[in-house]
Formats: sequence, structure tokens, C-alpha cells
Amino acid sequence: MIDFTLSDEQRAVQELARSFAQKEIVPIALQYDKEPFTPEKILKKAHAAGLMNITTPKEYGGHGLSLISAVLIAEELQAGCAGIGGMIGINSLACGPILVGGTDEQKRRFLIPLCESGKTASFGLTEREAGSDAAGVKTKATRKGDQYVLSGQKCFITNASFATLYTIFATTDPAKGTKGITAFVVPRETSGVSIGKVEDKMGMRALNVAEVNLDEVVVPAKNVLGAEGQGFKIAMETLNEGRINIAATALGIARAAFEASLKYAKERAQFGKTIGNFQAINFLLADMAAAVDASRLLTWYAASRCDQGLPFAREAAQAKLFASDQAMWLTTNAVQIHGGYGYTKEYMVEKLMRDAKLTQIYEGTNQINRIVAGGALMR
Ligand SMILES: Cc1cc2nc3c(=O)[nH]c(=O)nc-3n(C[C@H](O)[C@H](O)[C@H](O)COP(=O)(O)OP(=O)(O)OC[C@H]3O[C@@H](n4cnc5c(N)ncnc54)[C@H](O)[C@@H]3O)c2cc1C
Repeated sequence: MIDFTLSDEQRAVQELARSFAQKEIVPIALQYDKEPFTPEKILKKAHAAGLMNITTPKEYGGHGLSLISAVLIAEELQAGCAGIGGMIGINSLACGPILVGGTDEQKRRFLIPLCESGKTASFGLTEREAGSDAAGVKTKATRKGDQYVLSGQKCFITNASFATLYTIFATTDPAKGTKGITAFVVPRETSGVSIGKVEDKMGMRALNVAEVNLDEVVVPAKNVLGAEGQGFKIAMETLNEGRINIAATALGIARAAFEASLKYAKERAQFGKTIGNFQAINFLLADMAAAVDASRLLTWYAASRCDQGLPFAREAAQAKLFASDQAMWLTTNAVQIHGGYGYTKEYMVEKLMRDAKLTQIYEGTNQINRIVAGGALMR
């Protein structure tokens, strides 16, 4: 049976996130698109409101909710501002490797303090020479007794400047390719960890993205997630779930652009009638509504398969690539509906268009997500 009705609990978290976004995020979204953003204040509020660490099990300090609840929350927060919403939601990606590959002891040691304090982490896979080809990471991990020494540099790491710990992927043996990659938890205060260049980005300006330098960083072997050589698998499993969150991010951006366009089309008059009554604009609005609804259905479908313990890698890739392509198309046309005003910073839609672009790039570009989805079809 197919039932799209949300449970009372799901409606409650959706409403909580919607009112938080309207009260706390929307009023500051345009300001922090222009000015540097430090997330402490909003994180404190989001943490107090129960909007962080949604799917982390309760015994490890999280809320133990389903991924469906997480995507309901993500859509609402990202509709307020995808950059700020992304900072609030970063632990879902950053702590994914601990949940996927960690032991009970590691989950208790790392997740409980993080969740209870409201602090945040980062996921460190990408390097200058290893983007889509993540198996090419050069960060080296050398075992010395019951410790590892990590050296290298990660780039494009979301929340790097503010994280208290990093999940880092390094190679113990480059000749082994993906099988040589190991996942480590690296606390921020470890000697040799430093932050490099902070990226000056087109959109999602409130999302902190920076390099992480690892200079002879000594990490105890008890910080290895899974076993040596399992890091690539852990990273890919984390990204499968992460892609559903990116689909929800794209959906939030698209919905915000649609709502702004509909409102504008009902208010703006030319040639003696409101522009929403011109068929060209009216049909665009109809296509936008369909794009939002279709993105939401694919996102919910992928999340529900994950919640049910069914395979969901293809569905996650499909939701991510579809929702992000729709968000890009939709935000571009939202600017069009706003005419010249849409091209100015006075209206939110030009920000939404810049924000949407990232959803086609991170957590696997859409070319890579098509490879994932297409590959699954051929198996
Ligand atoms: C704002 C932002 C935040 C990010 N946050 C994080 C983070 O928190 N942690 C992290 O580890 N990484 C993060 N990333 C990195 C992100 O995941 C990578 O940028 C992405 O995977 C692409 O890698 P690349 O930039 O090196 O592009 P490249 O891999 O160099 O790709 C360039 C182009 O070639 C295409 N391409 C590459 N290979 C193929 C192929 N086999 N077939 C077809 N086309 C191909 C790509 O699709 C793309 O269009 C972030 C990136 C950005 C921009």
C-alpha cells in the first residue's frame, strides 16, 4: 500500500523546522549571503530546538529519528537558507563514517560528546587531485606501533573551520587503490591539524568550506573506523545516504524559488494584468510545481527505502541528480519570472540560483551520480 500521509511525529518535526526556518534563518539569510558568517549562535538555537543529529541513535546522543524525518527537516531549513541549513545539518555527513564503520565504543566516545554539546564535525575525503576520483587520495597514513601518522591535505571540506573533529580518509598503501584507504577520526586539537584556504564561493555563502592540512598528525589506532582498508567502502556508504540529504537541500531551494515566483506572479502586473495570467508564465509555474512535487517524491522514496533497510544507492543517486537538476532549472526560471528585479540582490531568487548550482556538484557531481545510477541499471 502506498501512503503519503505523514505521521503525527513527522508532521511535528516538519512544523518545528518550518517555524525555526521562518523565525531564525529567513531574517538573516540575505545578510549572511553578503557578510562572513560564524555559525555558533544559530547552531546553539538549532541544537536547543532539537534540529541537529536527527538520525543519530538516541543511545549515542542523537534524536534517533528516521531519514524521512531528517529530509522533512532538511527541506524546511534549506528553504530558509541552504548555506545556514547546511551548517546545521553537517553532522549527518560528517558523522556518517562513525555510524557506518564505528564500534559501539567509538560511537559512544565520539558521538555522545558531539551531540550533547551541539558541536559539529566535518567529512574529509576530497583532495586537489582526488575529486570525483576519490580513490586517488594521496593523504598518507603510516602505522607506527599502536598509532598512525597522517600527512596530506584535504580541500573543499564543509565546516572545516568550525569542526571539533574530522572523519578523514587516507591511504596506507597507494598501490592497493580503494583497498588501501582507511577512515580515521581526527580531533581538531590534535597537533599538526590546521585550516588552510577558506573558499570564496559563488553560492551557499554561509557554508564554510576550507582546506584541512594534516602535518604529521598522530592518531591512535583506536580511532580507525572499521578495519584498515575499509575506508573507501565506508565513504561510499556514507555518501549514499548523504545524497538523499542533498536531494532534500535541492528540494528546499527549489520550493523557496517556486513560492517566491508564485507570489511575484500574483502581484506583478504588466499590460493590465498580473503576469501569472500570461500563459507563458502560468505554464512555467505549473512546470515548477510539478518539478518540486516530483523531487519530493523521489527524495522521500529513497529515504523510505533506507529507513526500511532496503538497497537504496540507485534511488539516492536518482533523487540527488533529479532534484538538483530541477532546482537549477527552476531557480533560473524564478529569476526569469522576476524579470530585471530577479537579477538584483534585492530579491532572494538570484541567491537561490547561485545556491542551487552547488547541489549539482557536491557529494558526487551529477555526472558521477548518473554513473552510479546507470551502473546499477546494468547490474
Ligand atoms: C561547496 C563545496 C562543499 C564540499 N564539501 C565537501 C566535504 O565536506 N567533504 C568532501 O570530502 N568534499 C567536499 N566537496 C568536494 C566535492 O565533493 C567535489 O568537488 C566533487 O566531488 C567534484 O570533485 P572536483 O571538484 O575535483 O571535480 P572533478 O572531479 O575534477 O570534475 C570536474 C568535471 O569532470 C566531470 N567528471 C569527472 N570524472 C568524470 C567521469 N568519470 N565521467 C564523467 N564526468 C566526469 C565532473 O562531473 C565535473 O563536471 C565539496 C565541494 C564544494 C564545491
